[in-house]
Amino acid sequence: MSAIELLSDLQCNGMKWEGEVGLSRKGGAGPSDHKAMTLDGQTLMIPVLNLASQDSPYTGKTDPLTGKVIVSKNQIPVATLSAPARPKFYDLVTADGIPYDQIATLHSHDVLATTVLQHCIRMNGKTTACQFCSIDQSLKSGRALIRKRPDQLAEVAKAAVELDGVTQMVLTTGTPNTPDRGAEILYDSVKAIRAQVDLPIQVQCEPPNDFAWFQKLKDAGAVSIGMHLEAVSDRVRQQIMPGKAEVSLDVYFAAFDAAVKVFGRGQVSTYILAGLGDTQQEIIEMTENLAKRGVYPFVVPFVPIQGTALEHHPKPDPAFMQSLYTQIGSQLRQYGLNSQDTQAGCAKCGACSSLKAYE
Ligand code: SF4
Repeated sequence: MSAIELLSDLQCNGMKWEGEVGLSRKGGAGPSDHKAMTLDGQTLMIPVLNLASQDSPYTGKTDPLTGKVIVSKNQIPVATLSAPARPKFYDLVTADGIPYDQIATLHSHDVLATTVLQHCIRMNGKTTACQFCSIDQSLKSGRALIRKRPDQLAEVAKAAVELDGVTQMVLTTGTPNTPDRGAEILYDSVKAIRAQVDLPIQVQCEPPNDFAWFQKLKDAGAVSIGMHLEAVSDRVRQQIMPGKAEVSLDVYFAAFDAAVKVFGRGQVSTYILAGLGDTQQEIIEMTENLAKRGVYPFVVPFVPIQGTALEHHPKPDPAFMQSLYTQIGSQLRQYGLNSQDTQAGCAKCGACSSLKAYE
């Protein structure tokens, strides 16, 4: 099995951890319950904290002598991985006493990421919430602020660049009850960060009502934007994310086209969670449509996050993911998209998916 096949298998199955997990990510927007691990220069986020990883054939533990991660499959050692060290900026606090790691966290090994508004209009209603999302968990546990101020983000970003060499930043947001869908919060944040530090930033939000926000965000200093479909068929959208499904696919496509005009081909991306119920054909048709428009389809294996409505949902089959990666990789080549050309964001980071290796 090649390094990327092993990482891909680990990402679908997760890993049962023995001992202290150490640096990891629990709750929050987007994929969670995982730990960054590196093999042959490729860093992937591997689920270790959710229920689904507890019945994985893989186990992991830290070797006390080397600090490396020893991975076994059915009790037989199969690989030795490394895990990024705890970043130095995690030890700092703001002048008003807020730990930096409650403001932003390290993703993969060199990405600074945060959810600027840790609240969403849809999160408290059974008929509106996205069933896969754990945006409220880190808030309830006291690990994150509900709203990160622009000056706080700028302070942490500067420290993360200077102390830990982060190379890019991802700013996502829960959706507020305003027509801009969070674009204004992101705009204020990007402006403040870029005034302090030269760091490529991707912003992520739902399509705003007024597409003029794309130019404003770019002028503020954002270099790329993500607007996340999550599921691709109306059937799965209605079932898994009934509130967000009210924003039609047509609205997303209009927003993608407008954003590509501003940010350029490959600087607009979308997250697709494979394993929620969309068929392979549905996903492939959608990724073809997106790639043709210049939108990078960042397809990731769905991680059933503990504490969400989908915590017992089956994990995606690694063979299903590899077949998707192969076909999407060829679409990306056909339409001239490549994560290396993306200036910032999840596609560039690539740690939540093995897609990069198939481009
Ligand atoms: S792909 Fe995106 S969500 Fe995943 S680790 Fe990288 S920055 Fe974070």
